[in-house]
Amino acid sequence: MAVERTLTILKPDCVRKNLIGEVTRRIQEAGFKVVAMKMTRLTKETAGGFYAVHKERPFFGELVEFMSSGPCVPMILEKENAIEDFRTLIGATNPDEADEGTIRADFADSVGENMVHGSDSVENGKIEAAYFFTESEVVANKA
Ligand code: ADP
Repeated sequence: MAVERTLTILKPDCVRKNLIGEVTRRIQEAGFKVVAMKMTRLTKETAGGFYAVHKERPFFGELVEFMSSGPCVPMILEKENAIEDFRTLIGATNPDEADEGTIRADFADSVGENMVHGSDSVENGKIEAAYFFTESEVVANKA
């Protein structure tokens, strides 16, 4: 299987609940290597830009408010089959529909405030990674 990269964001609810460590531990225990990481706070403009694909959806305003409501922690993760395996680790968008033991099932409050983002394709992962990180902020993690 090919080694892939995915972009995740530990969303503002994750940071507010003091779960950065616990969620990162689960991610690393599942075999993902962190190759870039930072804490940042999105503005409404940068949050809206990141989720531009959803701008016609009824929940767009709520999503932009939430994503800019506090700091978040974007990371680039590397692993074989990273895109699919990460989506499996976090569970369905709606925590009520997420499989038991997934990050969203265990910690998310609602379909909007659902703890973590995960890229849905290798191509989008590259675009999303470039949204948050310059090349010099991405390091090889061979440990
Ligand atoms: P995912 O993050 O699982 O890829 P989507 O791409 O469909 O899900 O949606 C992006 C984000 O928008 C979700 O993670 C969630 O925060 C928010 N969202 C999606 N659907 C809704 C909804 N019906 N109501 C409120 N927020 C939503």
